[in-house]
Amino acid sequence: MEARYEMLVNGKMTGGSRSLDVINPATAEVFATCACASREEMEVAVTAAAAAFPAWSATSLDERRAVLIKMAEAIETNLDSLARTLTSEQGKPIGDAQGEVGGAAYFLRYYAGLEIPVETIEDSDARRIELHRRPLGVVAAIVPWNFPVLTAVNKIGAALLTGNTAVVKPAATTPLATLQFASLIKDFVPAGVVNIVTDNNDLGDVLTGHPLVRKVSFTGSTNTGMKVMSSGSATLKRMTLELGGNDSGIVLDDCDPEVVSQQLFDSAFANNGQVCIALKRLYVHDSQYDAICEKLAEIARAAIVGSGLQQGTQLGPVQNRTQYNKLKSLIEETRKDGNIIAGGDSPDGPGYFINPTIVRDIADDARLVTDEQFGPVLPVMRYTDVGDVIARANNTSYGLGNSVWSSSVEKAGAVASQLDSGSVWINKHGDIGPDTPFAGAKMSGVGIEMGMHGLLEFTQAKVVNYAKAANV
Ligand code: NAD
Repeated sequence: MEARYEMLVNGKMTGGSRSLDVINPATAEVFATCACASREEMEVAVTAAAAAFPAWSATSLDERRAVLIKMAEAIETNLDSLARTLTSEQGKPIGDAQGEVGGAAYFLRYYAGLEIPVETIEDSDARRIELHRRPLGVVAAIVPWNFPVLTAVNKIGAALLTGNTAVVKPAATTPLATLQFASLIKDFVPAGVVNIVTDNNDLGDVLTGHPLVRKVSFTGSTNTGMKVMSSGSATLKRMTLELGGNDSGIVLDDCDPEVVSQQLFDSAFANNGQVCIALKRLYVHDSQYDAICEKLAEIARAAIVGSGLQQGTQLGPVQNRTQYNKLKSLIEETRKDGNIIAGGDSPDGPGYFINPTIVRDIADDARLVTDEQFGPVLPVMRYTDVGDVIARANNTSYGLGNSVWSSSVEKAGAVASQLDSGSVWINKHGDIGPDTPFAGAKMSGVGIEMGMHGLLEFTQAKVVNYAKAANV
């Protein structure tokens, strides 16, 4: 077993009064333990972040930029080791883990390059009105298990650049790479400015209800998001909630099945389908339905499923036992709802593996279609009328993303304009980046992350209104 990972509280790596066993989903065995906080220890971290806020918020933007750049350098120098930890706890193929960790450094460099704008609302003979942006205070950053490093670092970058301090809480099944990151930054981030504290999926409410926390930046499921919002209401916390999704893809009648199918497969099965913006429901025009189903099944059967540390693995295990069991029962239920034409089973041996599964001839009211599956199982539905399929795609309480696929960008654009989601992609799915605002419509979220719009959610607007004539 590897060394015990510790938490970062008030500038020091510290053990907790509890500990957490972390399972490698490729073996289903514990491979490391880490510190785990009690409620009181989580409170200590919040207090440390609050105490650090006055000095940190008084630093210049350039000083804060320099800290973000140092964080990016620390990640880049330790990229391979962080990626190995990430694959061991999360399951994703090592190349994808390197991509996630490298992406985290890239996000930090992006934030470090931003200005915090002062907007002039009016500049007339009578008055000058400016809109300034002030930091809020302590930010609680609550993170899920699918992209633990990138999600945590994205929140840290935006929070710190705008002058806030942060308490970061990883998911209980994927804390290690984030704690490793903590140990890399502890010597140059001022004490209390970033605290990284682990729980056993039981201390989120300490953060969301704490009077010293001024903003919650939460990424996770819609159900938990609702609890977060209610818990923060007594102190009217600012909230950014990035929640679940059930993204559709609509394939118009003019695509080449040979060309489009690989892209559709990748959009649905990246990170083993455990992506908020994975393609989760695919609607294909009647004229190409059979050909695309067959091609998707062919790709699925050929996919290499295995340990993320093994060379050549394309799809790793599902991240945790709860999610694995949920998917297995969903697949069993799907046997009566549709035709499974690839996968539906697990390879022999230990670990939370599920072969990539393609389901056809399934109705829109089957649970695999109505619920967020969050795993390597894709339902493919048939349609004939474009107006009808738009209504079917919109018939969900989720609204994270959708995509339209067509050889005519104009035709696709006309469909895209009628889809009710925070993002819509044409001839691709799930393309996001630090400079692109990311929002959920309906029950998929509140507010915006990333880009300048996302950055400003970490600030309080403050209007400064001057009389021009000094008649006092
Ligand atoms: P989850 O909601 O169970 O957990 C997310 C985080 O919330 C974890 O750190 C968990 O410990 C914490 N938490 C649990 N109960 C809490 C409470 N009462 N108060 C505060 N925090 C609490 O989600 P998950 O299973 O870890 O992640 C999968 C879900 O996340 C999927 O629904 C997925 O779509 C969603 N997700 C959304 C985005 C996005 O940007 N929209 C990105 C990634 C994942």
